[in-house]
Amino acid sequence: ADGSGAIATTVRTTCPYCGVGCGVSGAAGGSQMGGERTLAVSGDPAHPANKGRLCSKGSALGATVGLQGRLLEPSINGRVASWGEATALVAKRFRDTIARHGRDSVAFYVSGQLLTEDYYVANKLMKGFIGSGNIDTNSRLCMASAVAAHKQAFGADLVPGCYEDLDEADLVVFAGHNAAWTHPILFRRLEAAKARGQKHVVIDPRRTDTAEGADLHLAVAPQSDVRLWNGLLAEMDRRGLLDLDYVAEHVNGIDAVREALAQDDQSLAAVAADCGIAVEDLLAFYDLFAANPKTVSLFSMGSNQSAQGVAKGLAILNVHLATGRIGKPGSCPFSITGQPNAMGGRETGGMANTLAGHMDFAPEDRDRVARFWGAPHTARAPGLKAVEMFEAVRAGKIKAIWVMATNPAVSLPDAGAVREALEACPFVVVSDCVETDTTAYAHVKLPALAWAEKDGTVTNSERRISRQRALFPAPGQARADWRIMADVAQGMGFDGFGWASQASIFREWARLTAYENQGSRLLDLSGLSSMTPHDYAAMTPIQWPVRADGQGTPRLFVDGRFQTPDGRGRMVPVRPKGPADAVSDAFPMSLNTGRIRDQWHTMTRTGLAPDLCRHAPEPFVEIHPRDAKAVGIKDGALTRVSTARGEAVALARVTDRQRVGGLFMPMHWTDAFAPSGKSNHLIAPNLDPVSGQPEFKHTPARARPYRET
Ligand code: SF4
Repeated sequence: ADGSGAIATTVRTTCPYCGVGCGVSGAAGGSQMGGERTLAVSGDPAHPANKGRLCSKGSALGATVGLQGRLLEPSINGRVASWGEATALVAKRFRDTIARHGRDSVAFYVSGQLLTEDYYVANKLMKGFIGSGNIDTNSRLCMASAVAAHKQAFGADLVPGCYEDLDEADLVVFAGHNAAWTHPILFRRLEAAKARGQKHVVIDPRRTDTAEGADLHLAVAPQSDVRLWNGLLAEMDRRGLLDLDYVAEHVNGIDAVREALAQDDQSLAAVAADCGIAVEDLLAFYDLFAANPKTVSLFSMGSNQSAQGVAKGLAILNVHLATGRIGKPGSCPFSITGQPNAMGGRETGGMANTLAGHMDFAPEDRDRVARFWGAPHTARAPGLKAVEMFEAVRAGKIKAIWVMATNPAVSLPDAGAVREALEACPFVVVSDCVETDTTAYAHVKLPALAWAEKDGTVTNSERRISRQRALFPAPGQARADWRIMADVAQGMGFDGFGWASQASIFREWARLTAYENQGSRLLDLSGLSSMTPHDYAAMTPIQWPVRADGQGTPRLFVDGRFQTPDGRGRMVPVRPKGPADAVSDAFPMSLNTGRIRDQWHTMTRTGLAPDLCRHAPEPFVEIHPRDAKAVGIKDGALTRVSTARGEAVALARVTDRQRVGGLFMPMHWTDAFAPSGKSNHLIAPNLDPVSGQPEFKHTPARARPYRET
């Protein structure tokens, strides 16, 4: 620093976009005092996740660090306020609301953009000291179904594999995972493996870029995934290819699963017909699976975002458990996370149905956490999950909500109803680094640090903890999320929030994972629990568990022991079901929303980078030529897409990449970029009954030309 706020140094940090968790080297320059901030980025060659590579979004990070649109001062009802005044008001309104209406009348809705230290503090404040389970995260929208499946099958939310397994596998199955666009650096790694002979099978109703180069693309009918995976399990059983020795030694539940399979016709012809694919293609998949024991099955939003998301996950896990394809190099089911710190949120209890350290609300777990925190009022039951939380706000049951680093007014399903809820809520706090569609509803706005100013840790999809380090000093009045929450907690009169730095929060969090013999569980960070501030500053990427010897752990379940009480994995019977809402004469098509290659979430960062906006400058809807012709939609023409929830307007992309009967719209556009192109307003708030994850991949819809009356 030169004393004017200008700095020029190279810092090793991590990319803030996806769950690949790439290492970034950033050389910051310029000034926060009037001059432009500049940032040159490159991939960190020493980071194991990306080994020096960056995708289009990561490479464009330098274009997103300007201060336009930033929240730089606290405000109350539109009036600039001091930090003291703002945090005192938040503390008082939360305290008063709880005193009048009870602990469950308040809620936090948080984000996979938060760092692990932030998540830990949010969870400690809400579940530990306020005493309500009402904290949930926008990660509910991306991988809650995988979490629930892991807990049922493995006894805890544990991702067994590591990225080296992707290099070593002979077969990779992409189940509802367009890795080429959503996790590009992993995909490049997989392309390299494919060039060495690895086989790729893509299960996706759309012919995505991932499917384009695959050995086999199964354009399955929406919601037929359970049928496909159950059929695979039945076929492996028929061929005598289950690993029955492994099952006998390590897995329960195979008899119940076989009984469930027997209730449906598992012939190739019947399975292929229900999945809407040719028998030859189905057989080709099953033959590839039979011939390649080293198989990784990647699953992501296309599997999770469904009213049957947990069942889909379990169907995948069942096949891997029954064939012993887990805990071995190149063999595992692999849930890939969408956000940079979705995993860190899961670890620290950022989800409404878990406590920190992968503990549940079982009395012994709850009491252990309460003792560790010295928080006798620690919540005894799970809180409301994301969609239910905003329904409770709308119903007047939640009277004060704090939204952190996320934009639910655009990103949640039925987002119009979310706006009505926020409008009606007596007290809305939003802490964020930028103005968003959601800050418009805030009574109190609190300026948080943005990616390039934050300091802490994140965990990527392979359980690898990496440091995020500040490249710029805090602009304006912006503060770290953890510090904002700690100030409010102290304003509410709670002890235990007086940390001096994020390093001390991390140490406390690591100690919790091993408290009172928690170290017997796999989420164990005891090897990191006595780090000095210097150790923390210099920390290099490491995969948990990190036991007392300080070594990381690339792969779980190598000894065949799971996290269940008897140490055995569980196969769980699942049967195929249709979507929550069937198509109808009024809405005869299936609308699927998702991401595109060069935008991130609601475009608050990527929308600032001209190069990224060129990839898809306007909202669009993909439709198959046959469907387009039937209703008179031309390629490139303005098109109305309507559902029972409302209407959007987008440019038609008539393409046979889209399955007949399906529509696809990106979920990124907001009021700031294209108000009529918002797509999640159209999505029904149908949820998986176990995970609470919304069914973004199917809502009955209709498409018609813009000018049709
Ligand atoms: Fe960032 Fe993901 Fe791209 Fe890596 S793959 S640079 S983490 S967006």
